Amino acid sequence: MSDNPYNLIIVGSGPAGLSTALHLAQVAPELARRTLILEKAHHPRAKLCAGGLVADAKIILERLGLDSSEVPHVDVETAHFDFAGKGLMISMPRKHTLRIIRRDEFDAWLAGKAESRGIEIREGVTVKNVIPDKDGVTVETVAARFRAQVVVGADGSNGVTRRCVLPDTPIHTARVLEVIIPTQPSSKFSEFGGGQGRGREGGAYFDFFPVPAGIAGYTWDFPTQIEGQPMRCLGIYDMNIFANEKRPSLKETLAQEMARHGLDLAEAEVNAHPLRWFDPFNAFAVPRVLLVGDAAGADPLLGEGISMALGYGQVAARAIQSAFTRDDFSFRDYRGRILRSPLGQTLTARWLFGHVIYSLRWRWLQSALWRSLNPLILVLAWLFVLNWGKRMR
Ligand SMILES: Cc1cc2nc3c(=O)[nH]c(=O)nc-3n(C[C@H](O)[C@H](O)[C@H](O)COP(=O)(O)OP(=O)(O)OC[C@H]3O[C@@H](n4cnc5c(N)ncnc54)[C@H](O)[C@@H]3O)c2cc1C
Repeated sequence: MSDNPYNLIIVGSGPAGLSTALHLAQVAPELARRTLILEKAHHPRAKLCAGGLVADAKIILERLGLDSSEVPHVDVETAHFDFAGKGLMISMPRKHTLRIIRRDEFDAWLAGKAESRGIEIREGVTVKNVIPDKDGVTVETVAARFRAQVVVGADGSNGVTRRCVLPDTPIHTARVLEVIIPTQPSSKFSEFGGGQGRGREGGAYFDFFPVPAGIAGYTWDFPTQIEGQPMRCLGIYDMNIFANEKRPSLKETLAQEMARHGLDLAEAEVNAHPLRWFDPFNAFAVPRVLLVGDAAGADPLLGEGISMALGYGQVAARAIQSAFTRDDFSFRDYRGRILRSPLGQTLTARWLFGHVIYSLRWRWLQSALWRSLNPLILVLAWLFVLNWGKRMR
């Protein structure tokens, strides 16, 4: 056991954990100096994710003095929100609508930035247990025990921190499948219609055709790159609010969408990962332990979580600074801090929209929503979904 306890131990060095440390280094450098991040993997580590960064992520990173264009990326000009191939197109004048990064590269870059600002990261260390008491928190790993004043659980959707400190809270989990395929004409996919992306290059596509079948979500198709080679990332998201009903399998539904574009899912490697989503009634903290990122809950509507993880880091750093200033580690105010923040407001709006939009399962209504009621969708998105990063002060 370390007899010189840390101010803060962060479990996990994804965007949520790294953003917490980077924000702490900005608002309370004296606390950041005795902060330790424990990470079970080694950067650059694989993370199943389509890697779509929205403008809010860019804004939060810029306020930390970071420029995501340093990471290999593909910028997407237009985002299409369709129902069965037709619908609404969004583009931003003189700006990209989405920046696509690979998570191994992005997270390794962010970890490097945290280390260059004096944050200690120990990789290859798996946390097994988090035990808060009235004087601090004990963190048990496979090989050692650590002690800290405060612990942040930034260990993702299946994180051990939440399981240790809030074992009985309800879990709302989306189902997500993803495949990566090459776009090169020479690839094996060329025989299935000339390669995904014919006529779709440069755009990001979201298609809500599975909603009437009880899949509360959409299929996506993004351009991406791996080691400079152009690829496409396709997948399917299901908020999973109709888990008790009989629904088509996600794999079949994704296969159906790929077939529409001349692709065969059987030729691709399918990967799956659950995604824990935000519910305003969730618990987000216990005395001395806070949750951030997927451990606290990602966007229920679209499964977006990178910008949210970065935003949680900002809220958590302020809550930690205030706890040390007041010498009050109850974190009774953390839930209120999240819900009142622009991040919490957008997450609450998306939680509500997710339940409403995905419950309207009539085919004609979904079709009308994405094809004819575009102005309504745009206004709602503009007011409640986008642009929250700017308001995070
Ligand atoms: C298929 C898929 C596609 C997605 N696409 C997008 C997208 O395009 N855009 C978007 O914004 N979001 C997307 N998301 C969501 C996004 O990936 C997450 O919201 C985001 O990764 C959350 O970041 P985080 O830091 O909370 O958790 P994570 O990124 O999961 O990081 C958690 C870290 O904790 C470490 N860890 C876990 N357990 C332990 C332990 N016991 N001890 C030590 N370390 C531990 C892990 O190794 C990991 O490094 C997608 C998710 C999925 C599943």
